[in-house]
Amino acid sequence: MNPFHYQRATAPIDAIQAGSAKNTKFLGGGTNLLDLMKYDVEHPSTLIDVTHLPFAEVTANPAGGATIGAGVRNSDLANHAIIRSQYPLLSQALLAGASPQLRNMATTGGNLLQRTRCYYFMDIAFPECNKRSPGSGCGAIQGFNRIHAILGQTDHGPTGPDTCIATNPSDMNVAMSALGATIHVQGPKGKRSIPIGDFHRLPGKEPQLDTTLQPGELILAIDLPPARFAKNSYYLKTRDRQSYAFALVSVAAGLDLDGNTIRSAGLALGGVAHKPWRSPEAEHALTGQPATPETFRKAAGLALAGAKGYVHNAFKIELAQQTVVRALTLAAQGVQA
Ligand SMILES: Cc1cc2nc3c(=O)[nH]c(=O)nc-3n(C[C@H](O)[C@H](O)[C@H](O)COP(=O)(O)OP(=O)(O)OC[C@H]3O[C@@H](n4cnc5c(N)ncnc54)[C@H](O)[C@@H]3O)c2cc1C
Ligand code: SF4
Repeated sequence: MNPFHYQRATAPIDAIQAGSAKNTKFLGGGTNLLDLMKYDVEHPSTLIDVTHLPFAEVTANPAGGATIGAGVRNSDLANHAIIRSQYPLLSQALLAGASPQLRNMATTGGNLLQRTRCYYFMDIAFPECNKRSPGSGCGAIQGFNRIHAILGQTDHGPTGPDTCIATNPSDMNVAMSALGATIHVQGPKGKRSIPIGDFHRLPGKEPQLDTTLQPGELILAIDLPPARFAKNSYYLKTRDRQSYAFALVSVAAGLDLDGNTIRSAGLALGGVAHKPWRSPEAEHALTGQPATPETFRKAAGLALAGAKGYVHNAFKIELAQQTVVRALTLAAQGVQA
């Protein structure tokens, strides 16, 4: 591990001022950043510890939704009364992730920004990785790509300078996407609010960038809109082991039902793309329709339209469709995970 400076911030403005210096990173629970520093993938010269900032609360907000401080630990968020009663989809997604010890450390801000688990990104023994080393190519395209993307990827072959088929590994981000969260940040140029759909990015021509966050911007809080899916939602995660494993495919499904008719829906997939993959086409196809297997199968087909698989992950296209149908079915039944 390279030497680095450590500073603890106690006021957001101090963190932002310190965070605008070159090669500085904010430190949440450290469960991702410190690993990447040990693997020599990330080498910040200064860490600003933001876990002592006054943003570790979950509160009801005036708009009728909930506001989650960026410093709220994943365990506290999953078990908070407002989240459990109004946003069980988010609680389920958080509890499907990592382990109790990791969830006790991990923060909401850090979870939003956790980096891909692509083996070729995380291991500097592989020189080809456009995300880690822009322009170097992509080791995953012709490598072991079981956990990689099937939607929205950039594929110009293994030597393409912008090729990347990495996935966003977070469970929380998938639920936040289906719920329509908004992320509030503050940086050297002031405050701004970013809908979650505009926060994470597809690789495009710059796979080294995971999000639209600008250098030095600190995540302050996340707003959830008024709850629509408290009664009918389900987070379904398919993975190689029942615990302590990242998703091969996951689905966050929320239904607002009037009898058996779908008034509105929220649907997002994890493990399939560089960002949580919300499907407006599927949500639109569900709206106004009866909550039946036929409706769910049609939505699943739309959510996976245009998917492209590779040698080791083509199975995910069918798996994802089945996971969508199952998650919607359980959501409609009001089953709690
Ligand atoms: C063995 C293992 C298994 C795991 N399994 C899962 C799983 O199944 N599902 C899942 O979703 N996750 C899983 N995780 C990942 C875990 O959820 C993340 O490591 C965690 O959420 C990151 O949060 P953190 O607070 O520790 O972030 P940190 O490691 O502290 O930081 C991560 C990034 O966020 C930045 N950051 C932190 N706070 C802020 C802020 N307020 N503003 C701006 N930037 C900030 C940091 O600079 C850094 O770039 C696993 C991790 C491990 C080690
Ligand atoms: S998929 Fe992306 S992160 Fe993985 S090796 Fe290719 S460029 Fe790097």
